[in-house]
Amino acid sequence: MVLVINSGSSSIKFKLYSKQPSQHEQVILEGLAERITLDGVLTIKYKSEKTTWHMDFQNHEKAVKGILSKFQELGVIKTIDEIVAVGFRVVNGGLITEPTVINEVVYKAIFDNIEFAPLHNPGALVAIDAFKKVTPNAVLVGNFDNAFHHTIPKDNFLYPLPIEWYQKYNVRKFGFHGLSYQYIVEKFAELSKLNKENLNLVVCHLGSGSSMACIKNGESLDTTMGFTPLGGLMMGTRSGDIDPSILEFMTKKLSMTISEVTELLNKKSGLLGLSGISADMRDLTIASAKGDEQASLAVNKYEQLVADHIVKFINKLPYVDAIIFTAGIGENSSENRQGIIDKIKILNINLDQTANNEKIENFNLISAENSAIPVYVIKTDEESMIYQNTLKFL
Ligand code: ADP
Repeated sequence: MVLVINSGSSSIKFKLYSKQPSQHEQVILEGLAERITLDGVLTIKYKSEKTTWHMDFQNHEKAVKGILSKFQELGVIKTIDEIVAVGFRVVNGGLITEPTVINEVVYKAIFDNIEFAPLHNPGALVAIDAFKKVTPNAVLVGNFDNAFHHTIPKDNFLYPLPIEWYQKYNVRKFGFHGLSYQYIVEKFAELSKLNKENLNLVVCHLGSGSSMACIKNGESLDTTMGFTPLGGLMMGTRSGDIDPSILEFMTKKLSMTISEVTELLNKKSGLLGLSGISADMRDLTIASAKGDEQASLAVNKYEQLVADHIVKFINKLPYVDAIIFTAGIGENSSENRQGIIDKIKILNINLDQTANNEKIENFNLISAENSAIPVYVIKTDEESMIYQNTLKFL
């Protein structure tokens, strides 16, 4: 069996797959270990039943042991060695361009890139350390969120800053959500029966973290997130791109350090900051329908930024096979999809209202026949991508 792990500093999300490379993938169970280092709560969904246990998770190693002991109690595995591989999501692997077995060099690369992903890479490393000890015979594979974007050319990944900042300190656009973009490109190629190598797409991954990718010939040509996942579009709690001078100005006004103000840009800005109500688009849609002006303003601004970037990315492509919406907001909110497309004035892109309001399965065409560019909704599945990438090493 193959275990897929998305680990943070105090939680481990996991999904267990059976190992059947040539057959249809099968999810055996999924779950979440939370409150690691505080006390410990473990939830597992197995055979459509959800069970929660209160545990003692002093550290990630204890949590991993706790997770695997529950697999044994549930009768899913008899011995730990039945977990033949573990695939980890890692936000920034620096210059690593594809999924890779975690040997010493790769481990060091994840460690060395902590300064580029301080909120994310440490969580992956503690989980890797734990699995090294608890599942010593399993193959451990790193799946990097920035790797998909290694094809972005220099003119798109460089910032207009002194060139030494890039040469000496690697200040550049990395881009993230790469596992989602890889999944969407492969799924679209499979379902549309178009050749992946010729695909030109604009993909909108709109979740609590939102970003977009401009895909040319099946590869990333540009993306909205930048040096860190704070850049680009406005998000649930993150500001996205702003005038950099605001940072210094607000450190003075609030008598705070740069780190403290950056924390506010990460956690108190975006939809939450502007609406003053919530980071969750569902709450804002309801508030906006009830006439809350700040909520409407936040939603409109979010939609406008996505619309602006769709136009910007279309402008980089010779032709566009599809605009694709995915992730929490992209998959679930017909209102936001309509709001975004309505804000694109220069191109004749139109949604079919009935198709847009229908329940989204895995792959839905939602544009009208007269639309200049077809628009689709595809459900993303980053865990499935990690599973498929990890299988290749068995
Ligand atoms: P992440 O993986 O970045 O945490 P998700 O892709 O799960 O985010 O998206 C979560 C967001 O999706 C929620 O914060 C919520 O705003 C949005 N969302 C989910 N369902 C709906 C819906 N029906 N309408 C509008 N927004 C939704």
